[in-house]
Amino acid sequence: MEPAEAEAGGGIAAARSSPAAVQATNDDAAASKLSCVTKGYMKDDYVHHFVRRTTKRAPIINRGYYARWSVLRKLMLQFLNAGSGSDDQKRKQILSLGAGFDTTFFQLQDEGLAPYLYVELDFQEVTSKKAAIINHYNDMKEKLGPDASISIEKGEVTSTNYKLFSADIRDIPKLDAVIRMAEMDPSLPTFIIAECVLIYLDPTSTDAIVSWASEKFSSAIFFLYEQIHPDDAFGEQMIRNLESRGCPLLGINATPTLSHKEKLFLDHGWKRAVARDMLKIYNDFIDAGERRRIERLELFDEFEEWHMMQEHYCVAYGINDAEGIFDDFGFKE
Ligand code: SAH
Repeated sequence: MEPAEAEAGGGIAAARSSPAAVQATNDDAAASKLSCVTKGYMKDDYVHHFVRRTTKRAPIINRGYYARWSVLRKLMLQFLNAGSGSDDQKRKQILSLGAGFDTTFFQLQDEGLAPYLYVELDFQEVTSKKAAIINHYNDMKEKLGPDASISIEKGEVTSTNYKLFSADIRDIPKLDAVIRMAEMDPSLPTFIIAECVLIYLDPTSTDAIVSWASEKFSSAIFFLYEQIHPDDAFGEQMIRNLESRGCPLLGINATPTLSHKEKLFLDHGWKRAVARDMLKIYNDFIDAGERRRIERLELFDEFEEWHMMQEHYCVAYGINDAEGIFDDFGFKE
C-alpha cells in the first residue's frame, strides 16, 4: 500500500478533501436522481429544478440510485407509521444532515405524509442555492404555506413544517443552536438522515455527531447510507476515484465493515443498531413487485459489476426507543 493510501482517513487524505468537491457530490446525486425519474424508476416532481443539464446515467447507476432511494423511503415510512394513534403519525420530526438538494419533504407533503417538522442542514453554499430554487419555483414555494420566510443570502428557509439552515455539522454547538432555532422538540420521535455524508468527515467528527444525536433524542432512528469495504480491489478503486475528485472517504477506514457501522452506533449511545449491505437489501428488503417493475425498465447485463457495487454500499441505523414504538421498525428477514 502506498503511504498516501495508508493515510486515507488521516492527514494526507484529509488535506486533499475540499468542501467544494464534497458539495459537488450533491450535484451528482441530484443529476443521477433525475436520470432515474426520467426513466421511470421513481417519482420526484421537484428534483428537475435542481439540475441544469439532464444527463442519462448507465442502467447500473440508475438501479443503484433507485435502491438507495427505495430503502430510505421504506424505512422512513416505517418510522412515520410507528406508534398507534393517528396523532402519533403526525407528531414526528425528520432531521436531514447534509441534505443537499434532497426533495423528500416536498414529495411527502404532496402525499399527505409529511411529519410535523422536517429540518435540513448543509453548508451555506448549498443551502443558499436550495433556498433560491425553492423561492423561484412556485410548485415548491406553495408547499411551505403562507408563513414561510426565505433568505437566499443566509441560505435559510423557515416555515411551519419545513426548515432549512446552514450549518457545518461538525460544529456540535452549532447543531444545538440550529435545532433550537428550528424549534425541534427533542422529546418527539425523530428520524435522522445521513445519506452519503458522514463518510466524508474525519472519524472524530462522525463519532461526535452520532453521540450528540443519541444524547439529544431518546426516541429516534439514525439512518446512515454510505460506502463499506475499502480493502478489496473494487473498494480500492472506489477510494481512488473519490480521492482524485477531491472528496476522499475520510471515514471509511474507521468503519470498514457492517459490524463496524453497528459498533459506531452502539459505542456512541444508541441502544440498538443494524447494518446490511445494499445487495442484501435490494434482494431481500425492497418490494419484490417494485423490483420486477424497475428491472423491466432498461436492458441490464452488468450483473457481476452490480453485485460488487452493491456490496460496497450499506444502510445502518441506530435506534433509541424510549417510548417503545420501534419494535417493528427495520429490516425484516
Ligand atoms: N444527502 C443528500 C446529499 C448527499 S451529498 C443526498 O443523498 O442526496 C453530501 C452532502 O453533504 C453535500 O451537500 C455536502 O455539502 C454535505 N456536507 C458534507 N460535509 C458537511 C458538513 N461538514 N456540514 C454540512 N454539510 C456537509
